[in-house]
Amino acid sequence: MSELAYPYEAPASQALFDRAAAVTPGGVNSPVRAFGVVGGTPRFMVSGSGPYLTDADGREYVDLVCSWGPMILGHAHPEVIAAVQEAVARGTSFGTPAEGEVALAEAMVERVAPLEEVRLVSSGTEATMSAIRLARGFTRRTKVIKFAGCYHGHVDSLLAAAGSGVATFALPDTPGVTGAQASDTIVLPYNDLEAVHAAFAAHPGEIACVITEASPGNMGVVPPLPGFNQGLKDACAANGALFVSDEVMTGFRTSRAGWYGVEGVVPDLMTFGKVMGGGFPAAAFGGRADVMAHLAPAGPVYQAGTLSGNPVATAAGLAQLRLLDDAAYEKVNAVSARIQGLVTEALTKEGVAHTVQTASNMFSVFFTDRPVHRYEDAKAQDSFRFTAFFHSLLSNGVYLPPSSFESWFVSTAHDDRAVDRIADALPAAARAAAEATA
Ligand code: PLP
Repeated sequence: MSELAYPYEAPASQALFDRAAAVTPGGVNSPVRAFGVVGGTPRFMVSGSGPYLTDADGREYVDLVCSWGPMILGHAHPEVIAAVQEAVARGTSFGTPAEGEVALAEAMVERVAPLEEVRLVSSGTEATMSAIRLARGFTRRTKVIKFAGCYHGHVDSLLAAAGSGVATFALPDTPGVTGAQASDTIVLPYNDLEAVHAAFAAHPGEIACVITEASPGNMGVVPPLPGFNQGLKDACAANGALFVSDEVMTGFRTSRAGWYGVEGVVPDLMTFGKVMGGGFPAAAFGGRADVMAHLAPAGPVYQAGTLSGNPVATAAGLAQLRLLDDAAYEKVNAVSARIQGLVTEALTKEGVAHTVQTASNMFSVFFTDRPVHRYEDAKAQDSFRFTAFFHSLLSNGVYLPPSSFESWFVSTAHDDRAVDRIADALPAAARAAAEATA
């Protein structure tokens, strides 16, 4: 994309991006940050406060990404910062057990009933990777069912999202993942229980687990159809497989007990990250005590981490969880609903076909008038309209995820002023979306 296409672009961010590109592949440490799909200069942020981020050029944005979910109380919440400062002053890592990790585990177990035991790790990827290993170790089976459009981190076997039709063995989606790793992964269309039953019938005694996002947010927000998660649970139980619910995105965000708290389907294993770390690298997996008992040192399935249960990260996570009472969730849900309403109003006024889909306070906007139930539906939207919409909002100080396949996130800090700024920016963005051409 030429600079002319984005006349408002940020010179300080561009200079940093150029510096970064000289020492880091693509100039970023996580690919979506590079603005590859939407084009233009990724904004390098220097600070965050409440619902706002400020970039290297000194421009302030209303943040609708919230670090991809974790910042549910907004940026630099005073009580979270105080807990971190208190913890950091006592030392940053001990390499021994410490009380903070016990307290965080207790807080999680208390909130999420199926979570009988939990093991802390440092990223969502590590959580899902470890849960899959445990499921395989427990069942002594190799194959894993996942769904197209669900992201579970960059675990080798779970990057295999290609393939279509029932029980198609996936091809590796990326160089570096071996055919053997991919061939143990069965990728099925989301929200399709028939496909799940057919896969179990085709592979009797071979499937260790089904892993699904509790309510997917990585193909845009595509909630499970009524009965889908329960159907997965029942199919697993009937076939001796484990049901693994990935709550890295939904956990402690969609309710106090995550998506489990919304739907009530009891998984065998669950994975967490994002909100439970309060903006620090903390994640977890857990579930049935009899399954978790197979994990080292209690059992034979090995799993470990130098920084697992890090005292600063656990202090941040615990402070954040403690602040998330019913009133906080009501506030996030309400502001999410307000913003959804404003988006719909603006796009409808300009005659732009769209569908807003929600999972509690997570939501996303698809540029299609058809409901999106699976990845193929999401891919059929007019993504070029999103690009125009995104850049118009960015130029007017509203920071959206730079892809139409992502959830938008809000926080308790999104107050009237922040919502008003979004409302002011939306009419031009809707016009840009209407005028966009493929
Ligand atoms: N699982 C889900 C549902 C996610 O959304 C993500 C990240 O977005 C992950 C796993 C991986 O987490 P991380 O990026 O912390 O490795």
